[in-house]
Amino acid sequence: MRTSFLLTAYAIIYVITLISSASAVAAPPPKATLGTFGIETRQMDLSIKPGDDFYGYVNGKWLAKTTIPADKSRYGSFDILREKSESDLHSLLSEHIESPPTDPTLKKVVDLYISWMDEATIERRGIAPLRPDLDRISAAKNKTDLMKLIGSPQMSAPFSFGIQPDPANTKRYKVFIGQAGLGMGRDYYLNEGPEYDAFRTAYQGHIATILQLTGDADSRDSAMEVFDLEMALAQVQWSPARQRDVQATYNPMNRDALMQLAPNVDWPVVFDASGLGDTQHVVVGEISAIADGAALLDLVPLNTWKKYLTFHRASDTASLLPKAFDEANFDFKNRTMRGVKEQRERWKRGVTLVDRNIGDGLGKAYVEKHFPPEHKSQMEQLVNNLLAALKSRIDTLAWMDDATRAEALKKLATFDPRIGYPARWRDYSGLTIKPNTLFENIQNARQFEWERRVNRLKKPVDRDEWHMTPPTVNAYYSPLMNQITFPAAILQPPFFDGSADSAVNYGGIGAVIGHEIGHGFDDQGREFDENGQIRNWWTAETLKRFSAATEELSEQYSAYCPIPGNDKTCVNGALTMGENIGDLGGMQMAYTAYRRSLEGRQAPVIGGFTGDQRFFMAWAQVWRGKSRNDALLNLLLTNPHAPEMVRGQNPQRNIDAWYEAFGVTEDDAMYLHPENRVRIW
Ligand SMILES: [Zn+2]
Repeated sequence: MRTSFLLTAYAIIYVITLISSASAVAAPPPKATLGTFGIETRQMDLSIKPGDDFYGYVNGKWLAKTTIPADKSRYGSFDILREKSESDLHSLLSEHIESPPTDPTLKKVVDLYISWMDEATIERRGIAPLRPDLDRISAAKNKTDLMKLIGSPQMSAPFSFGIQPDPANTKRYKVFIGQAGLGMGRDYYLNEGPEYDAFRTAYQGHIATILQLTGDADSRDSAMEVFDLEMALAQVQWSPARQRDVQATYNPMNRDALMQLAPNVDWPVVFDASGLGDTQHVVVGEISAIADGAALLDLVPLNTWKKYLTFHRASDTASLLPKAFDEANFDFKNRTMRGVKEQRERWKRGVTLVDRNIGDGLGKAYVEKHFPPEHKSQMEQLVNNLLAALKSRIDTLAWMDDATRAEALKKLATFDPRIGYPARWRDYSGLTIKPNTLFENIQNARQFEWERRVNRLKKPVDRDEWHMTPPTVNAYYSPLMNQITFPAAILQPPFFDGSADSAVNYGGIGAVIGHEIGHGFDDQGREFDENGQIRNWWTAETLKRFSAATEELSEQYSAYCPIPGNDKTCVNGALTMGENIGDLGGMQMAYTAYRRSLEGRQAPVIGGFTGDQRFFMAWAQVWRGKSRNDALLNLLLTNPHAPEMVRGQNPQRNIDAWYEAFGVTEDDAMYLHPENRVRIW
């Protein structure tokens, strides 16, 4: 089965946001990277009333003149910063290729990149690197053989294994089993309408193309068999919104119970094949989907399963194979599903490949060159200010009773912030990488990572582990660890700029930090206590008030239908609830922290804008971006984050200070009556 490194919906919660610095009241030093004080005012459209369309007011000129690059499905502040990371990493790689490193890890980094860039060798080897897998699949004669195949790491199956801390005791690891095995998001199979018919037809064509490339003479018929199998699987799987249910997806059980739940699986054979042979206890996620998905192993003929495995194995590795595979993959996954016009340049894809497979190897060099030590101390200060701001808010939250308040403060006190890079770098000494065997290199890297996880099952949980590499422009909260993590690359403008106005930094990285902290108290995070364990620390009365507020927030977001000309596919308020609570709480916390930093003094007016105005403008600037319609559709159906244009302007509508800062009244389109403003954290 394909192993999943991020299994349950709550294992790791991404933010996609960022940083800011916390100097006090004085006017900013003159040279911010963006504009004069951290906001690109030339990108604003001052003809738009801020109360009518705040996002357009801050970003209007940029939105009007920017075209999404042909190789991208979306483009904006995050993507621009990601391009910088890409280019920084590329320079590092080029230096090391120029003068080959003696450091054994860096040598592997360089060799992996060289193997990726060597297209002639990839073409010459043809399908040979994939052949052993295809032969194994083709040799399967019976159900036991099928079990061995679906248990193998890197093969597809109706479920996947992950290894993560046990929510009942976060000092030890446990094996998790979650639904898996589809080639598109579940709703693409199930939704009705001509646009979804077109996606399904395109997917059938894609399966046929890949199967034909593997040598299947009846690829069109085979593709329909594979598609029908996946359709049956999609029908039993849980929706992305339901997958967020922490209680429903937490089903600890022993082997006997697992065998009763899904008797169609020969679990001992599957466990052996995956390297988890002596596993006695597991946590099952989407419980009915695991049982009903497993039943298909008997209901669907072995021969169809073999075609399914062949397709997925070839599709998963297509970018490592000759151009015909790679192009077919791009055509469906990027062009059809996300509207991208052109493949990214090869070197850029190579940088991503290295970052994903041996990320700490290059990450260490990246940090040495691109992450000034003072950024770390500035961020630490800022994180502390945000935590203090939330504490002051929790102290006085009217909807929370004292018993729940005491528990919330206990959890807040154990937050563990991590900034820039990990305390300990990964050891890659057991990983084999050669400069001319791309396919095997990636298989080795994946197997190496899976074994790293399996091998620690009997060891205590490693709290120093990071799930993002330092050059990543993102951040995350882990409820099981109660950790917030900010990789080095997000600590740059427009998120964070040591030379920018502090109002801008609070509205940028400050609100991002607040967003991550907020995940600890969103509708999922609130189910975990100060030790990361699932425990209900809420009184019934307080929980009722919290749920009523989050329900109102959900309705606000569900009213946004961001795809032009499509009023049927809108933001899913339930799916995006955790992120939206994070954004609202994050802004509230950051605003409180900003006001506290002024210590009662008046913020200076800079560029004609008050401190409060600059704070709110910074958030909208961070979310500046455009997406292709197909990419938006994909996001709305599958992703727990609302689109950028919604995130950039809805939280403010719930904050009184925004109304005061811009003189927003009931005559303005974005106005919410004070009673309808949602106040949570
Ligand atoms: Zn988030």
